[in-house]
Amino acid sequence: MAGPALRELRTEWLPLGKRRATAALRRVVPAVRAAVEGARNPSVTEIAGRTRSPFRVLVSTVISARTKDEVTGEASGRLFARASTPRTIAALSERTIAALIYPAGFYRTKARAIRALSRSIAFDLGGRVPNTMEGLLELPGVGRKTANLVLTLGFGAPGICVDTHVHRISNRLGVVRTADPAETESALRAALPRRHWIEINDLFVMFGQTVCVPVSPRCSACPVSRSCRRAGVKRSR
Ligand code: SF4
Repeated sequence: MAGPALRELRTEWLPLGKRRATAALRRVVPAVRAAVEGARNPSVTEIAGRTRSPFRVLVSTVISARTKDEVTGEASGRLFARASTPRTIAALSERTIAALIYPAGFYRTKARAIRALSRSIAFDLGGRVPNTMEGLLELPGVGRKTANLVLTLGFGAPGICVDTHVHRISNRLGVVRTADPAETESALRAALPRRHWIEINDLFVMFGQTVCVPVSPRCSACPVSRSCRRAGVKRSR
């Protein structure tokens, strides 16, 4: 079954209006980019840069859910050292995959998902990862976040991967007012200049791990505090 389609934009998701939201994002993105300069890229981005393999991006994204970045990098490395194509991973048992990706969170569930994905790509799709949102959403267990990451990092195609950091920071800034990542994706697709689509995930992930952290963000040291409405922030440093 295909995953959820892009939600139709609602005006309340862009409380500043589209023009002002775009202007705010134009100011914020370069400042965030400067703030995270020198930080380590997320593991999935590193894997994408090293391998240029949409399949490895897909599998490591599955591993990365609710898992620390170092663990994702190491677990992906162990799995790919043993098997790195849809056909070779499909030939492994769930147990073997689970042992290779342990201690990633939910490693047993992920092992099942990775095997199912690999089988589907190997045997139904001739070994090729789909390069469209629709095609990716047809894969078992693939949602919009994963599909966007495969499109952007795996294929260099336009997309906005909205994970928990992108969703939280966009709302705190006040450029969007949305209830979930799917709404944030629609709002950002309307307001974020296209040249920032691919990079926004990496930038906000690194910024969200270091400055605009989930609990008690470091607002006093934040380079974009003057552009930020700090919506929903109850406690900060
Ligand atoms: S001012 Fe605070 S809430 Fe706003 S982006 Fe910076 S750290 Fe996050």
